[in-house]
Amino acid sequence: MKLTFSLLFLIFSGLIFGQPQPAIDFLVGEIELQIEPITQKIEGKVTYLFEVNQKTDSVFLDAKNMNFTSVLLNGKKVRYNENKEKITFYKKLKAGRRYDLTLLYTTIPKQTVYFLGWQDSEAVNKQIWTQGQGKYTSHWLPSFDDMTEKVEFDLSIIFDEDYDVIANGILKKTELKDGYRTWVFDMKKPMSSYLLAFAIGQYESKNSKSNSGIPLELYYYPKDSLNVEPTYRYTGQIFNFLNDEIGIDYPWQNYKQIPVRDFLYAGMENTGTTLFSDGFVIDSIAFEDKNYVNVNAHEMAHQWFGNLVTERDGNHHWLHEGFATFYALLAEKELFGEDYFYWKLYKSARQLQKLAQQGKAEALTDPLASSLTFYEKGAWALYALRTTIGDSAFRKGVQAYLNKFKYSNATISDFIKEVQRFTDSDLKEFGQTWLQDRNFPYEEVKKILSTSSVDIKTYLDLQQELSTSSMSNEEIIKRVWMKTTSTRLKENIILDYRKSLSDSFIKEAFNSKDLKIRQALCITTDRIPVILKEAFESLLEDKSYITVENALYRLWISFPDDRIGYLDKTKGIVGLPNKNVRLVWLLLAVLTKDYLNDEQKESYTEELFGYTSPEYSFEVRQNAFSLLSEVFPLTDQNIADLLNAAVHHSWQFRNYARKLLETLLKDESEKERIIELSKKLKGKELRYIKSKLEVE
Ligand SMILES: [Zn+2]
Repeated sequence: MKLTFSLLFLIFSGLIFGQPQPAIDFLVGEIELQIEPITQKIEGKVTYLFEVNQKTDSVFLDAKNMNFTSVLLNGKKVRYNENKEKITFYKKLKAGRRYDLTLLYTTIPKQTVYFLGWQDSEAVNKQIWTQGQGKYTSHWLPSFDDMTEKVEFDLSIIFDEDYDVIANGILKKTELKDGYRTWVFDMKKPMSSYLLAFAIGQYESKNSKSNSGIPLELYYYPKDSLNVEPTYRYTGQIFNFLNDEIGIDYPWQNYKQIPVRDFLYAGMENTGTTLFSDGFVIDSIAFEDKNYVNVNAHEMAHQWFGNLVTERDGNHHWLHEGFATFYALLAEKELFGEDYFYWKLYKSARQLQKLAQQGKAEALTDPLASSLTFYEKGAWALYALRTTIGDSAFRKGVQAYLNKFKYSNATISDFIKEVQRFTDSDLKEFGQTWLQDRNFPYEEVKKILSTSSVDIKTYLDLQQELSTSSMSNEEIIKRVWMKTTSTRLKENIILDYRKSLSDSFIKEAFNSKDLKIRQALCITTDRIPVILKEAFESLLEDKSYITVENALYRLWISFPDDRIGYLDKTKGIVGLPNKNVRLVWLLLAVLTKDYLNDEQKESYTEELFGYTSPEYSFEVRQNAFSLLSEVFPLTDQNIADLLNAAVHHSWQFRNYARKLLETLLKDESEKERIIELSKKLKGKELRYIKSKLEVE
């Protein structure tokens, strides 16, 4: 799984381990689901074939809040017991024998299956999708929270024929009956239950094949046909690169990627079926600001690291996230070059060093470590290992590990043992420094980077000189600036040392054509001096929505006489999927004197205030809430939308909304208004605001 970058600091993995059941080996699971979107009810039937390893008299499955209508062992009724967590059946079972168990059940899942837009009028907004990792597939299927139980699953789903149903495996056939269609999927290899997934919505797909012949299916919403290329740019290359670099063939029958609304994370690597946030569905300008390449490569790498070989439990989470992050970085190196690769490593090292300075450094073997540790320190550990033992030993070790533990589970020491076979260096020290120690070895990291990249070495030397030399900062920086041709080095100088640089230096720097250098110049300048006015105005034409948003805002603030010109120039630009340019534009247009006639003002205001509605993605809604609440009193409708947001399934958006609501509740008149508005609420929203008002 990949979390959005801004959240890396905040999230702890919170892993709870399922209970193993060594007496039994579940082999095959045949699943049939009928899903009712309005009531959110799932009617299911699952038949498991299992083998008995040691004689036993009871077997359980994880099953959260399910009603069982029939439980049959080899076709006969069997005694069972159910609670909110599990179903256990009782029967004397002999070692070496195989049995089949058929369960019929209904459930309304509290989590793991998300129903979106079924209350809206827009058909295209309607989706259903799952998130198994951390949310437990046992909320919709009697299955196994323990990751070591690997089963070959086959899914059949019955749904309204006007939608598309996508799930793990090959779509063998579909059958139509009474306006309902059955989609029948087939898998060939076993996997852990948390990797089961389905997505339902209106989609089209673009299909191709990898060099090794694996079908690649790229899904998109019908309205997004022009965004398919920039969204999925390099997908085939990444797939072929990973397949060659890892040196073990992609282990599943096909690979599908499906964007979904309001996803919980950036992406999730369900077996052969990655779901990802539709916030990555972008045009080619947004590609420069925020693209899917890294998440694309990360989830793909998990198909080997996590899905083919799965951690035994959360103590070995490095084997998933460290590896997916590292291999994604290698794929990016292949696409964007060494400069990109080393700067990214350097930046993550700085974040990790900062965490260590705050006394929050964590060991990679700590199951409760933060994502920053699992992902970025995890990738660094692999880079350090590869640098120490060399490319060839590293690749052989990884291949031996994948081969030995394929379709099964492993521990960190299993991995180290395999790698140790191919190197004379003793990996104990590596294990101590990188896996067991909490500290981040920043000095060692700087050494590795300095020998690998001339530009990073120049930068580290510059930092050193700036903190010790008596010369003026600008003089020192100027010398480095004139000598280098590296655009990343220049960008980072601006980002870190903008305050040390004079306006005339900045004016020179604006001559660069590099979008990232120009963006750095833009976002590090608050008030624009007159000498930079023209340079800033040229930013409004840059092919970057982040640059345009920031330049527009800064120009509008700094030069009131030219506001109308700036607004005219940027009218109609929507920007990133979170509508960053459009929202700022609407706000500034409404605030600009003599720009709009009454009718325009009314329609733009309505549009701006309307973006807090559940019709829009939570990224758009959050952006709208934060702009509006800074400048205007919220309308009753905004407050109603905020109460709805306070119980949203995405915890980051929910937390944002709750904080804003708390701020509003401190104001007596706002509080009265909220109490009045909450009278119209029902269900979750009502329960939340009631509990909040009681505390107040
Ligand atoms: Zn991941």
